[in-house]
Amino acid sequence: MFTIKNEIQFDTAHYLSGYLGKCANIHGHRYRLIVKIAREELHTDGHLRGMVDDFSHIKTVLREVEAEFDHKLLVEDNDEGRRLTEALRAVKPDLAVCLFPTRPTVEEMSRYIFRLIRGKGLDVTEVELFETPANSCIYSE
Ligand SMILES: [Zn+2]
Repeated sequence: MFTIKNEIQFDTAHYLSGYLGKCANIHGHRYRLIVKIAREELHTDGHLRGMVDDFSHIKTVLREVEAEFDHKLLVEDNDEGRRLTEALRAVKPDLAVCLFPTRPTVEEMSRYIFRLIRGKGLDVTEVELFETPANSCIYSE
């Protein structure tokens, strides 16, 4: 079995709607995303001969993930989140507020990113998303 990995970091703000604790307030993290791709055997012909996958392609996809999250505020797409987004944009229309389909916990973000990367054609095996140096979530399907 061969496993290759690559990683990026991005700065994102969020808050956890309905959470009982300090994470209910808007705050930021420097997220660290590690992406792993595993294959039993290396490609035997063509462009990817002798490789698990193309690091150049992986980097391109990870830059797209970074662009989706970096220096943005993630707000859960619920009634509260939509009202907050409207209020913020009323004051600053160009503020980078993004409605996120679920509560933007590290677990939900890991799953979202895993599927986002798969949707971009990268056959990712596992993602690990660090919210702090000590706290991370590993997601695979
Ligand atoms: Zn947080």
